Amino acid sequence: MRVTWTGGELTFRLDLEDEITGKAADEHPVKLATNSCAIGGVPDDAHPDLFAVAAWTIVAPWTRKRITFDRAISERVAEALRQGWGIEAGPVGAEPRTAGRTLAISYSGGADSVAAAAVYPEAPFVHFQRVPHRRVPNRWPHYRSDVLAKLAEQTGRELTTVTSDLEFTLAEPRPGYPEHHAVAAGALLLADRMDLGGLAFGYELGSRWLGGDRYLLRFTPDNPMWAPHGAWGRLFAATGVHIVLPVGGVSEAVTMRLALNSELKDQVRWCLRGTDGPCRTCGKCLYKELIQAAVERRPLDTPLSADRPVVRKWLRPPPYGGQEMIEYGLARVPGIERTIFAKALDHFDATEESTSWLDHCYPPAIDEIPQPWRDTAAAFMSEQVGLMSADETQRVETWGM
Ligand SMILES: [Zn+2]
Repeated sequence: MRVTWTGGELTFRLDLEDEITGKAADEHPVKLATNSCAIGGVPDDAHPDLFAVAAWTIVAPWTRKRITFDRAISERVAEALRQGWGIEAGPVGAEPRTAGRTLAISYSGGADSVAAAAVYPEAPFVHFQRVPHRRVPNRWPHYRSDVLAKLAEQTGRELTTVTSDLEFTLAEPRPGYPEHHAVAAGALLLADRMDLGGLAFGYELGSRWLGGDRYLLRFTPDNPMWAPHGAWGRLFAATGVHIVLPVGGVSEAVTMRLALNSELKDQVRWCLRGTDGPCRTCGKCLYKELIQAAVERRPLDTPLSADRPVVRKWLRPPPYGGQEMIEYGLARVPGIERTIFAKALDHFDATEESTSWLDHCYPPAIDEIPQPWRDTAAAFMSEQVGLMSADETQRVETWGM
């Protein structure tokens, strides 16, 4: 792979051994659509390691053996690429970047990132906004990134919005981040200007520790994407921008509760379709409604009926993505047996007691937050959430086994 940056414009050329269909760190196959993209609003004089890692968040799935950058990188970043991926990277010759002092939040506006923001009320936001690609037709106009960007502006936080078409480098399964970390490409390029030493993400217990969503569905202490000792954690640390997961120890029930009680509650939006509010009819809205109803102890409120495609997966047996939260909802939503989740009930024996671990914080998640940001998170979790008991910790560590 050969990578060239011109300002915020990235062009990459595949070597013979590279592949058009590659695999992201979560093993998901991704097919390349086009070999260029642009990131707007970023400086063009950032440390070369920042340009290198920003590029790697985009080209990693398609790179097999080596990557050549257009400027010399540090041996520290080259070593992280070698150890994490078996990739030879160069040219080498730059001094490593010194970590800054500021923690910024990679802010999407969803409940998880609002909860992360609540842990650090002073932290500035970097918001990623999707914009169309000049060479790829936009067949996804329902994706309202402009609405999310406007909501981010209304938070009153110090905010930098990064616009990018990088998601259109992906042809299949659909436009999206080639690696989950590509959401941070703009923040990386801003790291010198913002004096960043850490970047906080809203990944919660399920994504960090339970294999989350389209991934493994079992306890994953060595998660390659989000563990500090994983390939991506070490690579970010090598640039002096540590990955920080303020809500990595709590479930989506807790992040939902924190978000709804937050001063940013009017700006929370997890749906990418609605303009004046969540659409209420997409799969994500349905999933989040189950969690919200459980947190608020009220009946499910959805216009969806069993004949809708997004409902079909709940009529089939598990496994489901975010299954721990399904169990949590089934155990708590009044009248759930008369809803579209009735069929899913057949497969679980969930009770409030068996799911109470999802109301507390998993302590090892705090231990892995780097100083100087650990104590703030520890105090927040002790006061606002409560730490898991030994039994509850055991539930995390035997999940899916
Ligand atoms: Zn929706």
